[in-house]
Amino acid sequence: MARAKMKHARLLKTAHRYLVGGVNSPVRSFRSVGGVPVFVKKAQGSRIHAADGRKLIDYVLSWGALILGHAHPAILRALSKAIKNGTSYGMPTELETQLAKILVDAVPSMEQVRLTSSGTEAVMGATRVARAFTGRDKIIKFEGGYHGHADHLLVKAGSGASTLGTPDSAGVPLDFTRHTLSLPYNDFAKVAAAFKKYPKEIAAIIIEPVAGNMGTVLPAKGFLKGLRKLCDRYHALLIFDEVMSGFRLTYGGAQKVFGIRPDLTCLGKIIGGGMPLAAFGGRREIMKVLAPLGPAYQAGTLSGNPVAVTAGIVTLQWLKQHRVYPALIERTKKLCVGIQDAAADAGVPVRINFIGSMFTVFFTEEEVTDYETAKSQDGGLFRKFFHAMLDQSVSMAPSPFEANFVSVAHTDQDIDRTLRAVRVAFKQL
Ligand SMILES: *Cc1c(COP(=O)(O)O)cnc(C)c1O
Repeated sequence: MARAKMKHARLLKTAHRYLVGGVNSPVRSFRSVGGVPVFVKKAQGSRIHAADGRKLIDYVLSWGALILGHAHPAILRALSKAIKNGTSYGMPTELETQLAKILVDAVPSMEQVRLTSSGTEAVMGATRVARAFTGRDKIIKFEGGYHGHADHLLVKAGSGASTLGTPDSAGVPLDFTRHTLSLPYNDFAKVAAAFKKYPKEIAAIIIEPVAGNMGTVLPAKGFLKGLRKLCDRYHALLIFDEVMSGFRLTYGGAQKVFGIRPDLTCLGKIIGGGMPLAAFGGRREIMKVLAPLGPAYQAGTLSGNPVAVTAGIVTLQWLKQHRVYPALIERTKKLCVGIQDAAADAGVPVRINFIGSMFTVFFTEEEVTDYETAKSQDGGLFRKFFHAMLDQSVSMAPSPFEANFVSVAHTDQDIDRTLRAVRVAFKQL
């Protein structure tokens, strides 16, 4: 173990010289759990092959992108064929239409889509379209909801229902977040109050219909339906940011599970099959404000990239043809119930939120329903748990405010091994 850790420490030291913090996305740095991040050599199925030679059962799965597991043979075959035809054209292809049709068929609220290369871009496009369509400026988001790193959405909260947003990040002018209202997740009354205060100024509500970026948090019964009604009453748009939840809970989005039709939807992660690909879309009459048809500009040199689109098509076809969700959901449930039982036996206070194939273990006695309650967890216990799992070759998300994921490649043996590790870890807390 000590040798293994030294290997990663050495790689990190060199990385630090050339990359800011040694990484290209902040959570990867292990800042919230301490210690040295695992450098990856390659990955296969449910396993990360770490640079030190260890094989880890992986529940990060590229932050949820890899629902088929790592290096899925069907994707690899299709990609090696696709790259022989060239890697980018900057001109339209039939493949893009094919992927768009698959998305539209799977997510009926989307009549037309625009492909982008990241979830951040998809959300930027969707909020711009919402503002252009409604002619309004204000956007309601929810505390603990992450919608990528665009300036206007990097807002956690002010205090009180309708406090206008203050930026979460340096480098974001206060003026850029002036039109962002951040409200507590699952607090319908506060949303209704915001609409009462600004009846003609709110362009859209953007929400993760199942939150994943404060840890997994489910929408309270009737909450999404209530938002739909408010949006209808005040002529605002409802945007579901399903970059994480899309194709994670079922084939389609959380919108299918909860039976709510948003006006705009953002997708990413899974729909790219591990390649840089995302999308936003919605009703035709709304999407037509987008350039080249309308006045709202949005573009991308690599948007609709043929290699990425190929990975997306193969992933979604596989998910559809192999009816993977019942087994995936069953396996996730087995894991979560097992963790719950282990916690009860060890006398460790945990709350496990799970749905579909995503879950979070919160070290708290409180029910976790929003960002405030997510923050009630014991960060110290989480850190110990995280490292105890990693020491037993199980890789979980390196922050207490993240979701973990199960893939099609995870076997019952993987789950059993993980549960044995969990029991050992809980004893060490
Ligand atoms: C990951 C994520 C994003 C951002 O996507 P990137 O591809 O990282 O830019 C946006 N919204 C949600 C809900 C996400 O989970």
